[in-house]
Amino acid sequence: AKGAAMVTAVAARVQAQRKVIDEVLALFQLTREHLVSVKNKMRSEMEYGLKKETQPLATVKMLPTYVCAMPDGTEKGKYLALDLGGTNFRVLLVKIRSGRRSVRMYNKIFAIPLEIMQGTGEELFDHIVQCIADFLDYMGIKGASKLPLGFTFSFPCKQNCLDKGILVEWTKGFKATDCEGEDVVDMLREAIKRRNEFELDVVAVLNDTVGTMMTCAYEDPACEIGLIAGTGSNVCYMEEMRNIELVEGDEGIMCINTEWGGFGDNGCLDEIRTQYDVEVDEGSLNPGKQRYEKMTSGMYLGEIVRQILIDLTKHGLLFRGQISERLRTRGIFETKFLSQIESDRLALLQVRRILQQLGLDSTCEDSIVVKEVCGAVSRRAAQLCGAGLAAIVEKRREDRGLERLAITVGVDGTLYKLHPHFSRILRETVHALAPRCDVTFMLSEDGSGKGAALITAVAKRLHLKKDH
Ligand code: BGC
Ligand code: MG
Repeated sequence: AKGAAMVTAVAARVQAQRKVIDEVLALFQLTREHLVSVKNKMRSEMEYGLKKETQPLATVKMLPTYVCAMPDGTEKGKYLALDLGGTNFRVLLVKIRSGRRSVRMYNKIFAIPLEIMQGTGEELFDHIVQCIADFLDYMGIKGASKLPLGFTFSFPCKQNCLDKGILVEWTKGFKATDCEGEDVVDMLREAIKRRNEFELDVVAVLNDTVGTMMTCAYEDPACEIGLIAGTGSNVCYMEEMRNIELVEGDEGIMCINTEWGGFGDNGCLDEIRTQYDVEVDEGSLNPGKQRYEKMTSGMYLGEIVRQILIDLTKHGLLFRGQISERLRTRGIFETKFLSQIESDRLALLQVRRILQQLGLDSTCEDSIVVKEVCGAVSRRAAQLCGAGLAAIVEKRREDRGLERLAITVGVDGTLYKLHPHFSRILRETVHALAPRCDVTFMLSEDGSGKGAALITAVAKRLHLKKDH
């Protein structure tokens, strides 16, 4: 009898635990109504960002990029490209051959140590130029002629021409001093001068979304959107000039860098934000900022997971109730671990092994819960991202006065590329929320580097035309 009583007690406890876990997971489940509302709000925030009067306070900044022309295949030449702000810092040499739409690239990845990411602006740019010098030496082209350079700088920048970009504010892991409010092209040019070893012709500064769009547009002219779902989250798209109040002129189109990561910073997403989102935001380098990004991008999803796991552990529902030092450590769940944990092919034993690698000692039950938590968090991220994208494709369809629109989205980013479910859920959500748009997703091969070179090449081509 005693044994039977114990069994029921255990069963009751398991049931009660399950209830708490399900309640937590339910906070991350969004209904269709939620998603439609996210789409509609994104649309109105975009409109605010485009209007002169409301732009200064807009959370979705809708920054003009001064990219108005797509590559036409006649571009050619050798270009240097820099790619700063994603998972890696890279320097590239890109050779474009005209006519054949073929591009050859050589690149080198450099680490940016934390103390440089969060040191002074001068140190950061000196480091960048040091990396360029290493690369030029490595390629044996340091003495060569003044190469044209495209700078992919994946942070919000105010532009009033192609080769000027005033950093609005740092996002993601960066926090170097004396950069916000400064022109990053100037900072780069000055650092090159300080080093006094080689000359470069800095032609363009661009966002990674823009490079991604350009790279895909080089192959598919229907591509007029660029999406990054990686360390950070952002979208750019081609907008009618007549809708861009900040830029003179009504003819043609211009690429807008939406900086949609800031969506929700005015509280408009509070209804769906959870206590875990609040904790992640408060523990970040930029509290109160980039709230949508913090619910949708690789740098933060693991942090949301970690906050949930801490909470469940506090309630005695995980890891035998012991909050280890590891679990307290920020940033342990990188995108690659989330992707592995959520892989369908992975047996639970392997999930436990991954947790073990992360320094977390789990039981089999623990590993089931961890996997469920990861699934709920990444699913919500993909859905939110999809709802945002639905707003953009619908806007394009309406602005072009079409019943149906076929459009291509160029995509890059570790979350989109590595995660086993993110891209599918994102696509399903866009399809459900923008049924009159036929959206094709095109993976960009090295969008930031190639795109920077293409934009530089287009600028050179247009410039040459002007001179004749
Ligand atoms: C930045 C964007 C960038 C995105 C993806 C965000 O944090 O604000 O400019 O495009 O990350 O890298
Ligand atoms: Mg831009």
